[in-house]
Amino acid sequence: MTTFYIEQFGCRATQADGAALERQLLRRGCISAQKASDADVVVVNTCTVTASADAQARDAIRKLHRANPNIRLIVTGCYAQRAPEELSQLPGVAWVVGNSHKPQIPELIERISPQCEASRSNRFVHLSSLSAAISSPCEPQAEILVGDIFEQQSLLTTPVLGGEGNHTRPTLKIQDGCNSRCSFCVIPFVRGKSRSLPPETVIRELQQLADAGYREIVLSGINLGNYGRDLSPQVEFRDLLRRILEETAVEHLRLSSIEPMDVTQDLIELFASTERLAKHFHMPLQSGSDRVLAAMYRWYRAEHYARRVELIREHLPHAAIGADAIAGFPGETEEDHAATLAFIESLSFTYLHVFSYSKRPGTKAAALANHLPGAVIKRRARELRALGERKAAAFRQSQAGRELRVLTLHPSGDSSNNRTPALSSNYLRLFVDGIFPANQWLDVKLAGCEGTFLTGRVSGLGL
Ligand code: SF4
Repeated sequence: MTTFYIEQFGCRATQADGAALERQLLRRGCISAQKASDADVVVVNTCTVTASADAQARDAIRKLHRANPNIRLIVTGCYAQRAPEELSQLPGVAWVVGNSHKPQIPELIERISPQCEASRSNRFVHLSSLSAAISSPCEPQAEILVGDIFEQQSLLTTPVLGGEGNHTRPTLKIQDGCNSRCSFCVIPFVRGKSRSLPPETVIRELQQLADAGYREIVLSGINLGNYGRDLSPQVEFRDLLRRILEETAVEHLRLSSIEPMDVTQDLIELFASTERLAKHFHMPLQSGSDRVLAAMYRWYRAEHYARRVELIREHLPHAAIGADAIAGFPGETEEDHAATLAFIESLSFTYLHVFSYSKRPGTKAAALANHLPGAVIKRRARELRALGERKAAAFRQSQAGRELRVLTLHPSGDSSNNRTPALSSNYLRLFVDGIFPANQWLDVKLAGCEGTFLTGRVSGLGL
């Protein structure tokens, strides 16, 4: 019986792919190994969002091979889709399988003979069928199985139970791919066009999670606002949310991230109408300079974004509002950077995720002439992060004395004696006095701040 291990990298979408793969392998009778060195086959599920994500994947592959040269390594995910030949040169790699062929990995694992040895030579099986590709599986060659990602119609997904919160808050990917072409972003080229999970499947998966006792579920996608536009008949994302509220017993639903222009008045009103939707919007901003937004091929300008933040605040004064910002996009001037800082300062963000611009081969931005020196990018990222921390601290302070319903989480390294970590609907992290089991609602009176955590006392047992 083949034993396998999946080494995970990347975002929630990639993690959902890994969870789906695990589910398929278990159904076929494969055995999940506790650690990579115990497995016959290790699947390395990569990310390629930045150059450092690529480097992490290469390091992991080298380490896995050093630890056990007999392991057969299958490298898949976004990096495998983008640069399969590069990965096929790494020691111990038996197969490089792009996102285009990810659903075929279980069949591949089942059919690879245990006697096969990986080698450094490679044979490109671009766009070929799997059966042709594995017709001579004992050849000592690293095979590449990558096709046109834009042909991919299927959507790999299974709830991801692990990760943050240690199984308390599973994530369900309901959408993959992206139809936009932001000039810095490699994602459409490695994940293909937007595909959505049919509403009936979303509802079934969510209900199963609710039946299993999960109270909060995170809905994720590469571009959640694109949800349903590929389905026939088309489905609006907010209508999917309404159906979920009506047809499932899910107690609390959170969105991972949504583009600002998809945060419409209707959607905000829906969120304001029920406690079952987390008061939390994560909207990628990327820049506060209109000149840079245009160069990024973003489809809004700063004033449009600001209006969405104000709309949320009008309806949900205590909501978490987070943003992504990119420091050092090619050609970004000091004035552009200052405009981004001033724009973020002017809005009631509650946290910020800052990314240093990273050149991604094949994107429009990579071909621009005016890339900035690394030191400038780093300094601007530092300034943005410092601003983000100040905004987050101000938000925490503003919540002192409020009474909130929170969900208890599994204790982590951050926990200490006689207190329990928890998360609020508006994405505040807390330590609650006393020991409580994970996955329980509590009403908590916020007392003070401790670093990036709030502290609170229980005022009642929630629900
Ligand atoms: S919306 Fe833009 S940044 Fe987001 S995944 Fe699509 S192309 Fe990339």
